[in-house]
Amino acid sequence: MEFFYCVSKHQITDLLYLRIENKRMDSTKKIIIIGAGLTGLTLAYYLSKTKHSFKIIEARKRIGGRIYTKVTNNSAPIELGATWFAKQHTEALKLVKELNLGLFEQILGTTAIYEPISTSPAQIVQLPKNQEPSYRLKGGTHQLINQLASHINNDDLILNKEVSAIINENDKVAVKTKTCTHICDIVISTLPPHLLVNSITFDPKLDNHTYQIAQNTHTWMGESIKIGFSYKTPFWRENNLSGTIFSNVGPIPEMYDHSNQQDNLYALKGFLNGVYYKVSKEERCELALRQLEKYYGKQARYYVNYEEMVWKNKEYTSTEYGDLVLPHQKNGDAVFQNSYYNHKLWIAGTETSTDYSGYMEGAIRSAQRVMNSIKKRPQN
Ligand SMILES: Cc1cc2nc3c(=O)[nH]c(=O)nc-3n(C[C@H](O)[C@H](O)[C@H](O)COP(=O)(O)OP(=O)(O)OC[C@H]3O[C@@H](n4cnc5c(N)ncnc54)[C@H](O)[C@@H]3O)c2cc1C
Repeated sequence: MEFFYCVSKHQITDLLYLRIENKRMDSTKKIIIIGAGLTGLTLAYYLSKTKHSFKIIEARKRIGGRIYTKVTNNSAPIELGATWFAKQHTEALKLVKELNLGLFEQILGTTAIYEPISTSPAQIVQLPKNQEPSYRLKGGTHQLINQLASHINNDDLILNKEVSAIINENDKVAVKTKTCTHICDIVISTLPPHLLVNSITFDPKLDNHTYQIAQNTHTWMGESIKIGFSYKTPFWRENNLSGTIFSNVGPIPEMYDHSNQQDNLYALKGFLNGVYYKVSKEERCELALRQLEKYYGKQARYYVNYEEMVWKNKEYTSTEYGDLVLPHQKNGDAVFQNSYYNHKLWIAGTETSTDYSGYMEGAIRSAQRVMNSIKKRPQN
């Protein structure tokens, strides 16, 4: 039996009516997930264990969304998106274990370079023993994404197709890309809500309250700039230093040792102040090097690779806000716990989670919430 129809616009209505009787007999659902980030892939992984059939439609040519590990030959993999897991991230840790992935502790060290004020030189400060270390995934955070994706048939993952419209039609939903209209029983968005209402049109429109909340929902890390330098040697470990930097002066406010778990490929990775999103990659690199040179001397300039990601410039993550929107604003709002179009449309994604929203934990919890709701969904 055909599960999803990719049809031209004028065919939709005919197909809908022709197939309605068949579908009523069918207890399994045809589900479309929009977005192949952590939420979308976790949902797909859970759905792969059920009788429901599903497809994921992803706008980018790659999977992972805000998880993006840059892998280069002979250099430490650089996390340009999510990196750290914490002990409280219980659902993420469970999933990591279930997928047979391993963690290793983030090196913080016992000392850090601390630059409190521009008029005084940087200092070396002692760090207290870290009671709650954070953890990185062995091989890079993309291992989580790849493992989840390995449970999904290639045919069920559609890359490089941007969803532009969701249309509620009788007891079906139509999900439109530029070239195709997919008809399904349930559609789940995993886009950051602010991006969702600014890039996808709804017919009929979402109610005004939901629309306004989504407009004012912060996209976690949407303004951040990640930078990473790989090096032949971990020179920052000389003189009992650790690679950890905290600076109020910047442009790098924080940076850490980012060597691989085998400790044979070396790197420093951190954030660059988000105000530098408009300058060129070369300028950002030079700004960062000047700061590192101040702390570590000329050797900081002899890097092997420079990697960066300016998330504010990434169309499938960020869009401009109309008003001032504060970090985590409206994350986990009650409107995201509802379903729409008579239980046919769900809004998932880390920003919709009531707990740990913004983090990988929130993404996984949002996938679990929607899965549980679909299981309880009244049958048509
Ligand atoms: C720099 C940075 C550092 C971070 N550090 C950490 C950390 O250390 N620990 C932590 O727990 N979390 C961290 N996070 C947060 C973590 O990355 C997110 O919580 C998580 O990856 C969100 O997953 P998601 O699937 O909900 O959203 P996303 O990853 O944003 O996925 C949404 C997907 O939808 C796709 N999409 C967008 N528009 C369309 C469209 N129109 N049609 C089809 N597809 C579309 C996107 O391409 C994307 O793949 C960090 C994030 C960033 C950016």
